[in-house]
Amino acid sequence: MNVQIKKDDNILLSPITKNKLDVDYVYFPYQKDIKLKVKLDEYIFLEQNIFDNKDIPVYSSISGVVKGSKKLIDANNKIINTIVIENDFKEKKLNKKGIKRNISNYTKEEVYAKIKTCLDYKFAKNLECSNLFISSLDIDPYEANELFILNDYVDQILETVDALLDIYEIQNAYILVKNKESETITKILNKLGTYPKIHLKIIEDFYPLGIERVLENYLKIKNICILKTSFIYNLYKALKKDNKVTEKYITISGDAIKNPIIVNVKIGTKAIDIINDLVKFKKDIKDYVYIANGLMAGKIIDINKLVVTDDLRSIIINQIEERESLECINCGICKQVCPMNLDPREYLHKKVVPNCLKCNLCSYICPAKINLIKEDDYSDK
Ligand code: SF4
Ligand code: SF4
Repeated sequence: MNVQIKKDDNILLSPITKNKLDVDYVYFPYQKDIKLKVKLDEYIFLEQNIFDNKDIPVYSSISGVVKGSKKLIDANNKIINTIVIENDFKEKKLNKKGIKRNISNYTKEEVYAKIKTCLDYKFAKNLECSNLFISSLDIDPYEANELFILNDYVDQILETVDALLDIYEIQNAYILVKNKESETITKILNKLGTYPKIHLKIIEDFYPLGIERVLENYLKIKNICILKTSFIYNLYKALKKDNKVTEKYITISGDAIKNPIIVNVKIGTKAIDIINDLVKFKKDIKDYVYIANGLMAGKIIDINKLVVTDDLRSIIINQIEERESLECINCGICKQVCPMNLDPREYLHKKVVPNCLKCNLCSYICPAKINLIKEDDYSDK
């Protein structure tokens, strides 16, 4: 059973992306036992590799000076140690290497090497497939980062996808867009004439289709590769300009604010710096909370400690709503909606829920308002 989430019509996003790139400090989470490649008071260039987290290189999103460390939190409410860098606002960069003007001139090995150094190398192997799917589907109903990236950078995305089809000898690519996004659909259709192997695929709007495993099941096609529009745009910048990933889009929304927006920020920004600068609160709003990563499955966080990391997608600012649970009436809807065919009632008091996607759809749909899957009970996706 596919569930379309009823959205609050009062929460409408501004159609224009904003930037918040002028922060005084940035903060980069590092794990214990890793070897830092920078020292206290050292000068750091924009995009300099400051350390590697599990072999994934982390690059500074500003130029400036290392000032020390600070404990903050990530989108999962976990306490993290961060390296603090003070911005000199000069955006000084190291020299670029290995750039080709025409992306189609790259070999598979060279694309792989760029992904490994500029992006997240675990995606590299996924490009060997018969059909490539580029998803503009965001995970939470109130998020629109992937959609806005497609809108803002449609030419760059189409150019990159077209080159990947040549380089990896892939037959076809499909740009996935939700059926309600009529403006984006028109925009893509107007551009596709020059790309005969790239097609538009219009997708139903139900939750949680933005999660890759659910989307894979929905498409029912073998030997495919699904990549997000953000990945393709970052790959474009890596191949064309040797740019590392130092900025990202996040959605700021919720019923406590007047101006829901998509904002492009430096990775490592403290969330409170964005809120203080860009968010306008509604009048007479008293009790509200900050939720990281969506209304469906996000976590309430302390906004003063939250830092923008790779996995922060959104900050929702909502008025507090009491949720009083009743007795289960055994209607079975939670089981019917579960995209992984689990019966969430069986896991009420269990510590581990195998294959659970953490989507929280079961609790959302429950007429008795039971929190079926507790925060700490999830196993990994
Ligand atoms: S949806 Fe709620 S009330 Fe219905 S069976 Fe599941 S837990 Fe019980
Ligand atoms: S059991 Fe897990 S996967 Fe199934 S609906 Fe609930 S949260 Fe989603």
